[in-house]
Amino acid sequence: MALSRRQVLLGAGVAVPASAILLARAARRDPALAPSKEAVVREATTVLAAESSVDGAGVRLRRALGGRALGMLDPFLLLDEIKSDDPNDYAAGFPDHPHRGFETVTYMRDGAMEHKDSVGNRGRLGPGSAQWMTAGHGIVHSEMPKQERGVLWGFQLWVNLPAKDKMQRPRYQDIAATQIPEVAGERTRVRVVAGDALGVTGPVNGIATGPVFVDVALERRGIFELPLEADHASFVYVTDGAVRLGSRRREVREGELAVLSEGDAFEASCDADHGRFLLFAGRRIGEPVARRGPFVMNTDAELRQAFEDYRAGRLTSG
Ligand code: FE
Repeated sequence: MALSRRQVLLGAGVAVPASAILLARAARRDPALAPSKEAVVREATTVLAAESSVDGAGVRLRRALGGRALGMLDPFLLLDEIKSDDPNDYAAGFPDHPHRGFETVTYMRDGAMEHKDSVGNRGRLGPGSAQWMTAGHGIVHSEMPKQERGVLWGFQLWVNLPAKDKMQRPRYQDIAATQIPEVAGERTRVRVVAGDALGVTGPVNGIATGPVFVDVALERRGIFELPLEADHASFVYVTDGAVRLGSRRREVREGELAVLSEGDAFEASCDADHGRFLLFAGRRIGEPVARRGPFVMNTDAELRQAFEDYRAGRLTSG
């Protein structure tokens, strides 16, 4: 039997731009191009609806990860979605609060979020922009929605840091919408925030867990495939419509998170009107997690130290 281009390339362990796979598949429309034996397709193992929650100074949000149903998925600690056209739901925002020991990733679909920290860093995240903030040993910042009309729609992901990086200097990567590459294919549109996809590399760099973060929009009959590192944990959060994941084509709908199984290939398709989702993958850290409120450390003693440092005003001085 002739091997497909994908079988040959993946079997040989060659890094191939996923765009080549996508184009080859789109061009041939051949059922024989189903994933090879060598490529293990990740399946949706657990599908959970995001939980309604309130955080900050009274912001109503949906918690897809880090809530009651699924506390974390190493290295990912939390995923929140804020989506509302009622300023009462979000205007109180997230006034000054600390973080230590992990990273917060903010991604805006609509509206604006202003951030400001205690050592003078500030910025305004507009529609389509992203911020990857490595809190390291500590920051104290505010995150405030800055708008009075229209929809505020944004996401925040928390990503853990390995022990050796928890006390590193804080680092901001503020990424304007125009800096995020967008690849349009046949019935697909993909924004690459971090990692490699469809032959482009996202602008976020130097992150301990080597993450992939893509925002994928599919029209009906659209297909998206992406090789993923076998040692990465991964999940999908569906933001619009519905998509089907894996070779079993399990349906996942808006507001649902799907945990993906082990494997080295990701596949999504759409047979609804449209579907859009965020895909996250990252290297597992495999260390003990001691977590309370805005601090994520390895031990309870380190957590106590973080609270002490914060109270004493030492959190940001390292
Ligand atoms: Fe924060």
